[in-house]
Amino acid sequence: MDVSDNLKGLPAVDQVLDALEASKGETAQSRRVLTAAVRDVIAGLRKRIRAGDAVAKAETSAKAVARQASALAQRRRQGSLRPVINLTGVIIHTNLGRAPMSPSVMKAVERRMTSYSNLEYDLDQHKRGSRYDHVSEMLLQLVPGEAALVVNNNAAAVLLILTEFAAGGECVVSRGELIEIGGGFRIPDVMVQSGARLVEVGTTNKTRLQDYEQAVGPDTSMIFKAHHSNFRMVGFTEETSYAELAELAAGKGIIFTADIGSGLLAELDAEVAAGEPTPAQVIASGADLVCFSGDKLLGGPQAGVIVGKSDLVARLKKNPLLRALRVGKFTIASMEATLGRYLEGGFGDIPILSAVLADPKEVLRRCRRVAARVRRLQPHEGLTLRVVRTAAEVGGGTLPGRTIPSFGIEVELKGMSETSLEEMLRGNDPPVLGRLAGGRLVLDLRTMMPGQEVEIAGALARLKPGDGQNG
Ligand SMILES: *Cc1c(COP(=O)(O)O)cnc(C)c1O
Repeated sequence: MDVSDNLKGLPAVDQVLDALEASKGETAQSRRVLTAAVRDVIAGLRKRIRAGDAVAKAETSAKAVARQASALAQRRRQGSLRPVINLTGVIIHTNLGRAPMSPSVMKAVERRMTSYSNLEYDLDQHKRGSRYDHVSEMLLQLVPGEAALVVNNNAAAVLLILTEFAAGGECVVSRGELIEIGGGFRIPDVMVQSGARLVEVGTTNKTRLQDYEQAVGPDTSMIFKAHHSNFRMVGFTEETSYAELAELAAGKGIIFTADIGSGLLAELDAEVAAGEPTPAQVIASGADLVCFSGDKLLGGPQAGVIVGKSDLVARLKKNPLLRALRVGKFTIASMEATLGRYLEGGFGDIPILSAVLADPKEVLRRCRRVAARVRRLQPHEGLTLRVVRTAAEVGGGTLPGRTIPSFGIEVELKGMSETSLEEMLRGNDPPVLGRLAGGRLVLDLRTMMPGQEVEIAGALARLKPGDGQNG
């Protein structure tokens, strides 16, 4: 058969819609979605036939097209953002939504979201209020600054600070801190965007106080220190402390801003925190402004938090750019609920921190419970599960190079490569994402959320050698 015969073999749209029993009870809107899906599936087949791909006859029957179209329509109605089970062992996973929220936080958010709220209304004064007043009082209980402001994310915080205070002037940054964070946030590019002139000082591995002193001139408006985040320097390195830079800036009458990246608010013991600066420490060392993310070690929603001197924060609030970077009520509600967990002393309830702090013995028990559950489900006889030691990491550009002792389940299935196994688990509903390394697939249970044991065990018990179709 030639191409034109193959094209003629394709069903008509109406033919497929007739084959779709489900289309009968549909509303006009949902029928439009279905019709579009049918058209798209047929167009896809036509394109493949024209390109000379081998398209099996079974694929072009009205029934087969109907099946595909109805799956496509369902996907389009549900949207594409889905929950996944993160068993990569990377706790703050940039590709997997960074910090999950705790159910207790979401309950508090729901009550404020499903109702009107005093977002911009001052209930005491009976007049218009500011959305920025909500989170700041709570933040200042945790970080001893004079004023606070929350914006869309930490990149926005950096941009706003540089635009307000450094545009048209010089901003001094160590050559060791001209970083790029995942997704193309590069300190030098943000400088250009803000209108500040970047003045690089020191070398890649060593920047001393003296380097900063020499660089500060009449046009300097700011010293900016950025956390290394996603890389670590080892060997002969030297950097200038927050306190030294704060003192230098104060003496010269310029602003010292510290972008610390992560925003660790919990008082963790020294071994776990491993030198990660906290906003409180950085403010205490005299920084004028400190900024950090809401969804890294803080464990809250995507946001950028700025804490510092009240006159500086007041100027940021007047900058017109703030309107473009402002947070919505979802962010305010979830940030307040998250900070509330800290203030009540219950930060163990914050998923990111409970993953960091979980006792390795508890992770080992999870592995054993999941493996036992899989055995009870009578999995394929070729399936082997082995509980192994792993090294989890915090991720998200925090504590780079540091690992946390953990345990995982190494999965093997006779006749299947580890990459096909990975694909099969990724195809599960919900997708189960493990870590491939050294020719092995390992599911690290440190990053498992409470209540996921049943789903993980189910996904493993359904694995069987075959065509990669699972379920
Ligand atoms: C992560 C990070 C940012 C970007 O923060 P977002 O909240 O992702 O915008 C900026 N600076 C540092 C040092 C970071 O680690």
